[in-house]
Amino acid sequence: MSGRTLILGGGFGGIAAGVELRRLQPDHEVVLVDQTPAFAMGLRKLWDLVGTGTVARGSRQRGLLGRHGIEFVQAEITSIDPAERSAETSAGTVSADHLIVALGGISRPDLVPGLAEHGHDVWAFAGIAAAAQALADFDRGRIVVLVAGAPYPCPPAPYECALHVDEHLRSRGLREHTDLSVVTLQPMLMPNAGRAGSDWMAEQLASRGITSRVAAKVARVEAGLIVFEDGGDQPVDLLIVVPPHRVPEVVSESGLTGSHGWIAVDSGTLETSHPRVYAVGDVTLIPLSNGLPLPKAEVMAELQGLRVARAIAAEISGAEPPPLFDGKGYCPIELGAESAARVEGDWYATPEPIVTIGCPSAERAGDKADFEREHLDHWFGE
Ligand SMILES: Cc1cc2nc3c(=O)[nH]c(=O)nc-3n(C[C@H](O)[C@H](O)[C@H](O)COP(=O)(O)OP(=O)(O)OC[C@H]3O[C@@H](n4cnc5c(N)ncnc54)[C@H](O)[C@@H]3O)c2cc1C
Repeated sequence: MSGRTLILGGGFGGIAAGVELRRLQPDHEVVLVDQTPAFAMGLRKLWDLVGTGTVARGSRQRGLLGRHGIEFVQAEITSIDPAERSAETSAGTVSADHLIVALGGISRPDLVPGLAEHGHDVWAFAGIAAAAQALADFDRGRIVVLVAGAPYPCPPAPYECALHVDEHLRSRGLREHTDLSVVTLQPMLMPNAGRAGSDWMAEQLASRGITSRVAAKVARVEAGLIVFEDGGDQPVDLLIVVPPHRVPEVVSESGLTGSHGWIAVDSGTLETSHPRVYAVGDVTLIPLSNGLPLPKAEVMAELQGLRVARAIAAEISGAEPPPLFDGKGYCPIELGAESAARVEGDWYATPEPIVTIGCPSAERAGDKADFEREHLDHWFGE
């Protein structure tokens, strides 16, 4: 036996790391802990909201990771000891030679007064059913997609959400009776994609009659009304929210977080300040050359998880370390169900990240579904 790696969190980053590590080191013990038995991708949330797919259809039991030799423990993690590379869980204490923290970000509507009471949090799986019902019941009025905090997972997703809602309303003959808008606290729609990328997205929205407003930070929400910090307000009948996000409490108490509140890691190795303790995915914050954080996305979590797995495997076998995580990745942006555009980012480029957005096309419309199918099949079996 060549030791043990403990992975905390069975989302995109944790699973990618575990599967790759077992592939490279079949004798190495990998224990993965997550509080929920089933895995599903974030992209499913928007499909479920508008009825083009369901979360259930894209869910897989984490226990199936046993086919890779990964031991899955369904338990709540209650404390992390990075110095000992161990964690207390509701199923007991687990310690290891290497520790990977992949616990993601938690949506926190409670941080804005009235947001949880009057808005639908579609960034949490738990909020989808009620939001989908509210949309199904909607027959006319004002719908707002409100970005209430940043950074949040998947920077383009609020706009994808608005575009999916637009298409949904058209299919029900309700679009002309609906005022649909997106409001964000950020200075432009997609700061990571720069002015050009933000303008491109504003055009996509405008071409479908969706209005967008930037630099509008919500102060509180009342029944039927969003009140902003500058004193202005906006009436709303159906409020879809992207709440502020934070690390899970167990992470903030672990001593691993930096002054920004997220886990600080080396941008290339994903190592924390503790030896043989790594963090990947949404739970981290990696500042870019322009001061903005690396986008939180499945593709990034996966590439980081792969790099960490390869580094651990190399350490075990005494091989040279693998190439550093280079901050390059791509992702499709869905512009409704029938069209998508591919975004490519060289996020570690200086003096600015380099981001290119391809032409929207019908050929790309199935890219996210393909991405999901490939990963579910590889990780959980067909
Ligand atoms: C609406 C929406 C659409 C998206 N679309 C895309 C997309 O198209 N492409 C893309 O690349 N990304 C997309 N994302 C972003 C993507 O979902 C996240 O970036 C990704 O899930 C991050 O993976 P992760 O492994 O870091 O964390 P997570 O997937 O959040 O996994 C963390 C895991 O830790 C577990 N956990 C947390 N705390 C505890 C605890 N105390 N005890 C036990 N377990 C715990 C959780 O149960 C969870 O399973 C989307 C996100 C949303 C909300």
